Amino acid sequence: MNEQIMQSILQKIKDYQSIMIFRHIRMDGDCTGATKGFKDILTASFPKKDIYLIDPSQSSEFLAFLGGDDEEVSDEIYAKSLAIVLDTASLDRISNKKYVLCKEIIKIDHHINITPYGDISWVEEERSSTCEMITHFYQTFKDELKITKEGAKYLFTGMVTDSGRFRYREVSGETMRLAASLLDIGIDTDTLYAHLYMQSKESMIYKGYILKNMKVTENGVAYFFVSNKTQAKLGLSREDASAGVSALENIENCLIWIAFIENEDKSIRVRLRSRFITVNDIAEKYHGGGHSCASGATVYSKKELKSLINDADAKLKEYKENNEGWL
Ligand code: AMP
Repeated sequence: MNEQIMQSILQKIKDYQSIMIFRHIRMDGDCTGATKGFKDILTASFPKKDIYLIDPSQSSEFLAFLGGDDEEVSDEIYAKSLAIVLDTASLDRISNKKYVLCKEIIKIDHHINITPYGDISWVEEERSSTCEMITHFYQTFKDELKITKEGAKYLFTGMVTDSGRFRYREVSGETMRLAASLLDIGIDTDTLYAHLYMQSKESMIYKGYILKNMKVTENGVAYFFVSNKTQAKLGLSREDASAGVSALENIENCLIWIAFIENEDKSIRVRLRSRFITVNDIAEKYHGGGHSCASGATVYSKKELKSLINDADAKLKEYKENNEGWL
């Protein structure tokens, strides 16, 4: 089934002269790696085609080492292009809204498929990253496709970041085989990991702030809220502030942990994480979605924030009552 879908995606790519690649808002390692990696494959394989990756509304300090995207082009180019949207669960999360101008849309994603879209849709929820899917695509059609060392680096970066450094349950033997195939192409992993682990002094101080100010509910949901005022006081970008969620990740008995980051417009970004427990249903209730153990949402008041915490606490209580062997 997926083989057929992949075959029809390759055919569409062959049919179009102009192809545009899209990613999701709040760019992360996977959507950035997948889009840049896919662009590399298409450019190397079909040098006469026009391949664009345009995302003018976004940048990421953390991912700056992967380089920028293409310059904006005219609406006429969009209108004759095939749109390939990577790692993006729903249309409203596509960062470059001009995708609507494109002729046809292909969705390639590994998020839970609550809002299907696209003329062709290839979704594999059990894959650890979209970069893994793109690497699989490349391997499947290896006789017809090419990739450069840069492309392999982009895809490996997304595989590493979205799988929590190959720790999450979606990581399979196939994930490792595909990652190995990228390493075989030749990746400078020393430099890559130095970039991924580098932290500013402000971020280290912020981690201390989080651990000092976090709260834990009766049943073990760990969470913190960081206001606009505190973000300014600690000299944090929104991206730095959001990255703080990982500070809560390994606390004994706290199987769900949540970061609440105030946005400029006062809405609150929610980053929900868990081990063993499914949390995407909670995210979906609060204008969000994502993966079973890593989801995102938005709340619009302190009342809604409390209600989300209560839902997470109730879920954790039920889990602890009905399961053994958790940590
Ligand atoms: P975040 O905490 O924002 O990194 O989100 C965790 C995961 O859930 C990422 O893979 C996001 O792409 C995904 N995600 C976040 N918000 C949403 C949403 N509103 N709908 C679907 N997926 C989301």
